[in-house]
Amino acid sequence: MTIKINPARLWNDIVESGKIGATEKGGLCRLALSDEDRRVREWFVEACRAEECEVRFDELGNLFARRLGRHSDLHPIAIGSHLDSQPTGGKFDGILGVLAGLEVVRTLNEHGIETEHPIEIIDWTNEEGARFAPAMQGSGVFAGALEKQAILSCRDREGRVFGEELDRIGFRGTDVCGDHPLDSYFELHIEQGPILEAEHKVIGIVVGVQGVRWYDLRLEGCASHAGTTPMKLRRDASLAAAETIVAVNRMAREIGEGALATTGLIDVHPNSRNVVPGSVFVTVDLRHAEIEVLDRMEARLKEIVTAICSEHRISETLDRLWDSPPVRFDDACVDAVRVSARKGDHPLREITSGAGHDAVYVSKVAPTAMIFIPCKDGISHNEIESARPEHVGAGASVLLDTVLLRDRHPD
Ligand SMILES: [Zn+2]
Repeated sequence: MTIKINPARLWNDIVESGKIGATEKGGLCRLALSDEDRRVREWFVEACRAEECEVRFDELGNLFARRLGRHSDLHPIAIGSHLDSQPTGGKFDGILGVLAGLEVVRTLNEHGIETEHPIEIIDWTNEEGARFAPAMQGSGVFAGALEKQAILSCRDREGRVFGEELDRIGFRGTDVCGDHPLDSYFELHIEQGPILEAEHKVIGIVVGVQGVRWYDLRLEGCASHAGTTPMKLRRDASLAAAETIVAVNRMAREIGEGALATTGLIDVHPNSRNVVPGSVFVTVDLRHAEIEVLDRMEARLKEIVTAICSEHRISETLDRLWDSPPVRFDDACVDAVRVSARKGDHPLREITSGAGHDAVYVSKVAPTAMIFIPCKDGISHNEIESARPEHVGAGASVLLDTVLLRDRHPD
């Protein structure tokens, strides 16, 4: 028997829950642990209980809604994402993945399907990191990648403490965060980029998440008088920075194949109209899906900086301050997505995620895969973020088939 999700019901959930924290421009402001976060959690818990799910939350406020399976000793197959948003965020980022989980459960209930494994819907606390930094705190602690106490005591810009806000909205549980084994984890998400839409694809089979490396580059020349220092004698840190920015951009384009390089922040000293700039601070952000390519980009970055600085007699320090390696999702889980996606008649492609997701952390502790659908103009983290109802339905339908496939063939 093939059972189908109800796309209209899922769409209605997105619209209904989207009234909580709605902004005038059609988006959402639902910051983690705010009153709006509390209200959407309450809405979600009620919807899950109405489907006879058992709802628990752990000490970080991660929310788990469990539909029982035939074997209570099996670990649950989990479907999740996040219900919080950016301050001017959209109605789909994160929300889709959680509500599609609800739709899967509703569909199973409607058809009286008993799965072998329990099925769990998860809402991870503070994925966005907009109010409390860093991002993906709930899933990060769950996976043992972030330290629980540090997260519970971190503060927002008004000085309010994470743990106290969690108490205030009534979602601090007693379950130990991370002490909750999963059979597997699946996350449906909008792409948040332009690739699927540009290629007229409806389903993205996400094979992994690209790696990121951040660098601080400090260039030290000599500040001197703009009217009296001959061109030949200058040690212009700004000039070296400018050449570096151009060269780093060219390097990424030469490497091609998804290599990304960004010099997003620049500070010039003394930043005065008639002074040859003495020192400059520039950030470099390098991204790629393969560690070997990231290594190559890093080696090229060092060569570029050394060559330019020696030409302009600048002394430099280049520090790598963050290294988030690329993630390859679990082969069996990706394959389950692939098989399920091919069952439908939607155009599809394999894709690497450009953005981070809860699935990145969860993949450290459970076999994980993701499904992408297109979003309009590739825009996300914006109130105009939008996805088409038929794509939302297609994504949720692949999610249901994937979960059922995993349930029958767990490896
Ligand atoms: Zn998200």
